[in-house]
Amino acid sequence: SREVKPEPSVVEIAPGLQVGGDKMVVMAGPCSVESEEQILETAHAVKQSGATVLRGGAFKPRTSPYSFQGMEEEGLKLLALAREATGLPIITEVVNPRDVELVARYADIMQVGARNVQNFALLKMLGQLDKPVLLKRGMATTIQEFLMSAEYILAEGNRRVMLCERGIRTFETATRNTLDISAVPVLKGQTHLPVIIDPSHATGHAHLVPSMSYAAVAAGCDGLIVEVHPHPEKAASDGPQSLRPAEFAAMMKKLAEFAKVA
Ligand code: PEP
Ligand code: MN
Repeated sequence: SREVKPEPSVVEIAPGLQVGGDKMVVMAGPCSVESEEQILETAHAVKQSGATVLRGGAFKPRTSPYSFQGMEEEGLKLLALAREATGLPIITEVVNPRDVELVARYADIMQVGARNVQNFALLKMLGQLDKPVLLKRGMATTIQEFLMSAEYILAEGNRRVMLCERGIRTFETATRNTLDISAVPVLKGQTHLPVIIDPSHATGHAHLVPSMSYAAVAAGCDGLIVEVHPHPEKAASDGPQSLRPAEFAAMMKKLAEFAKVA
């Protein structure tokens, strides 16, 4: 908490790339890794627009067991290939504690999804790693519960934790979730950890992503994680909320007018 550590934590995610400093970090890429062509095309496009981290899911926590579950290790290998091709560090989700070691062999940042925010066994394992962790808030997690989940990682010794607000469930159905924008200043007031906003899962609609990204910056976030897909209509998951590379480029251009982007 701020009481224990008043100054903000700066999390180093790759040599020379920090989250929580004076520059915003933008992580971008597809919801799921689908093929070599798809991930390489997206990686080159987001890099060109100024993203400094590549996202992509290889293990997908899907609502339906019949939906695409991810390419698993094959997807991790493709992410590593994209990192080699672009120099971008990669963030990817680990869903199951039994896959922590495997995912950690490939990932630069370990992502904990909303559905696993209180998977304490998983959090404790990640606390023992020497790797940054992006912890997503659950769809029904209070700020206090969210901070206690982060504490599970920190208490094991891993200090490199980033918090991610990705929308919470409310009565509203016009958006997939409701972006709790006030979570940014509330979290910043209570903790020294960096705060990232995910406008893609928060809204569920690509056309709402740019405005919510600008709002997130105005609220004081340390970075964004955004879904981008070269052909959203063909995406295996989360196509409707994925920006096309040209839309992402336009958003990044506008962001640079009022934010310092790493
Ligand atoms: C994702 O990042 O693709 C994802 C599944 O997000 P969340 O855990 O926030 O639903
Ligand atoms: Mn997604």
